[in-house]
Amino acid sequence: MTFDALTRDQLQALHDDQQAKYDALKAAGLTLDLTRGKPSPEQLDLSSDLLTLPGPDFKDSKGIDTRNYGGIEGLTELRAIFAEILHLPVEQVVAGDNASLAMMHDSLVFALLRGTPDSPRPWVEEDEVTFICPVPGYDRHFALTEQYGIRMAPVEMRPDGPDMTAVRELAADPSVKGMWLVPTYSNPTGAVVSEAVAAELAAMETAAPDFRIFWDNAYAVHHLTEQRTKTPDIAGLSAASGHPNRPILFASTSKITFAGSGVCFLGSSEENVAWYLRLLGKRTIGPDKLNHLRHARHLRDLDGVLDLMDRHRAILAPKFAAVLEILEDRLGGHGVATWSEPKGGYFVSLDVVDGTASRVVELCKEAGIALTPAGSSFPHGQDPRDRNIRIAPSFPSIDDLRAAMDGLATCVLLAAAEKQLAS
Ligand code: PMP
Repeated sequence: MTFDALTRDQLQALHDDQQAKYDALKAAGLTLDLTRGKPSPEQLDLSSDLLTLPGPDFKDSKGIDTRNYGGIEGLTELRAIFAEILHLPVEQVVAGDNASLAMMHDSLVFALLRGTPDSPRPWVEEDEVTFICPVPGYDRHFALTEQYGIRMAPVEMRPDGPDMTAVRELAADPSVKGMWLVPTYSNPTGAVVSEAVAAELAAMETAAPDFRIFWDNAYAVHHLTEQRTKTPDIAGLSAASGHPNRPILFASTSKITFAGSGVCFLGSSEENVAWYLRLLGKRTIGPDKLNHLRHARHLRDLDGVLDLMDRHRAILAPKFAAVLEILEDRLGGHGVATWSEPKGGYFVSLDVVDGTASRVVELCKEAGIALTPAGSSFPHGQDPRDRNIRIAPSFPSIDDLRAAMDGLATCVLLAAAEKQLAS
């Protein structure tokens, strides 16, 4: 029965039942963590070959000694694999070091300090710079724009991409210089940008001539089902619409090989790539090519990547299934929560009763279950409805995950009952 349909006495009984469960949970003295989307040790073990690669042969296919300086754009054979994933020619893909977030940071800072190839002036010389932020979204994106004083304009992230009416309206303002977007299996809802939405993003009018889409394809090949969802070819669509410089694409092997020692990629138009490499060339003499070489040998080609991702799926899919099963078992039919059922990526997004997400996170914390702070998926950490909670099932063991989810469900019910009784 939904909470709304309960009498006050029934609600009080439900509250007391959940309170008893919660007291037992606290007494159990758990330490469980559902905070960050980290691969589990078993997933990292899938790439343990990397610990012995590249072996004594440290030259790449062109005979370049990967131990030495140089090659700012990265190793061709590795770029070629990700060029396929990003739908770009290999010349338009750069391989960097271990974090695509660093490439996003640098692209943003280069635009701020130097302007993009299409900018009338560096972005810092503008009175105001605004980024469109689909919400809920990735907290570290928002933390980056916040750090540099960029105003953030939230728009709703729908199952097929951002609310395009809102995006178009915002893009008519010349202070709006760009937007964040995770096109495939978005963090945290698992939304996938459709071909139609991508085509609109590529073609839409923008008042700023140097509008950039930070197309963060962090989960491009991170499928949880047999269906290998294809990301729209935003670079092709943008070029065909006369806006070749609009998208900057990012990806990485953080959740393919080693999260801390992977390789990241930036792809874009020839002009944008030349701009990025020119500015990057002052920051570094070149990336860790030895890491590129060992990745190229470990991954081999696109099929090698897809095979490896199937093995990740075998570990991850049961964890996501456990999360969804417990949510349905404990919360289904009560009318107190809705949640995403992602086909890929690293997260489940849970919406609880408005105004109770912070309380749920606090109750969990007191019971030894760590969750990302409520509001994390919104600019400035502020969820206007205080209802969204991001669940990251990848790292804990399945037993720990089940215990944590059961505890979380108790906290959701308890917080909802408290709120209803107080109203
Ligand atoms: N983008 C998104 C959407 C992410 O969820 C994450 C990791 N949680 C990253 C980027 C970080 O990627 P990297 O390790 O390549 O910096």
